[in-house]
Amino acid sequence: MKNDKRILLAHGSGGKLTHRLLTELVFPSFSNPILDAAEDAAICRLPGKVAFTTDSFVVQPIFFPGGDIGKLSVCGTVNDLAVMGATPRFLTAACIVEEGLEITALEKIIASMARAAVDAGVAIVGGDLKVVEKNACDRIFITTTGIGIIPQKIKISAANARPGDVILVNGFIGEHGCAVMASRQDYGLKTSITSDCASLNGLISAILAASKDVHVMRDPTRGGVATTLNEIASASGVEILVEEKSLPVPEAVRGFCELLGIDPLYIANEGKVLVFAPEKDGPEILRAMKRHPLGKHACAIGRVIAKADPQVLLQTCIGSTRILDMLTGEQLPRIC
Ligand code: MG
Repeated sequence: MKNDKRILLAHGSGGKLTHRLLTELVFPSFSNPILDAAEDAAICRLPGKVAFTTDSFVVQPIFFPGGDIGKLSVCGTVNDLAVMGATPRFLTAACIVEEGLEITALEKIIASMARAAVDAGVAIVGGDLKVVEKNACDRIFITTTGIGIIPQKIKISAANARPGDVILVNGFIGEHGCAVMASRQDYGLKTSITSDCASLNGLISAILAASKDVHVMRDPTRGGVATTLNEIASASGVEILVEEKSLPVPEAVRGFCELLGIDPLYIANEGKVLVFAPEKDGPEILRAMKRHPLGKHACAIGRVIAKADPQVLLQTCIGSTRILDMLTGEQLPRIC
């Protein structure tokens, strides 16, 4: 691709340019025996119960502090597998590219997908690349699909929260959404906030080794911690209490949110997991989290108080209690 500067419609036509893009960029970047076989479908061997998930990524801008759409597309799917207790194994990636995208941008995105896959211990075993005319999409959209194996004894579900469960999070909340928003030129805001975008499967292995009784895990992405807690409250039929003073909101995120009039509890995270487990297992899980680089600022943020009509309550710093609702409408479009 030495002489090409930008993606042309012909790069997606299945002809010579597609072939060059695949042989010079995609295959060398993701190389593994299953992909290298270059068949119409990836042939994988898997033992036991399988977790299977898919997600599309349309983040704007495609490069932001702490990551890019490529890293996000791998970490996001790895995390959806990991929070179910699965060991992520194989990914496929389908890219829709706008005619005119700089080849250097595509190279950077592919390189960061490859790096994220190696870091998470997954193989990208198949994919697709289509090119659409200028203005038919915005630069690049990526859909990743992932498969993981769930060990026999693991039974994690959003429906498993029980009264007495403690709720833990592995660190600061609100960073991804704020980092992406701040990097949009139309806001004209400068901050030091970096996305928390990361694959959580290593951290989650440590959590599952620390407790055999984890009830729920879920990554608070779109809609933030408040929305995810509401999903869990509904699925389990429980009332949840969150303590405002325990919420790990970094100063920079707090300031940024105040400026824009938004609530950090509704901001997307891309490297956070909420864990529900019996209170007696809490200290051991917290210790395991803190020993991991992605859990240094882990803490408890609340608990499940009763089997009841599903709701999430926030105990504020001044001692009052209010209902934390699900996100309504779209606070931040194209955040992931
Ligand atoms: Mg998720």
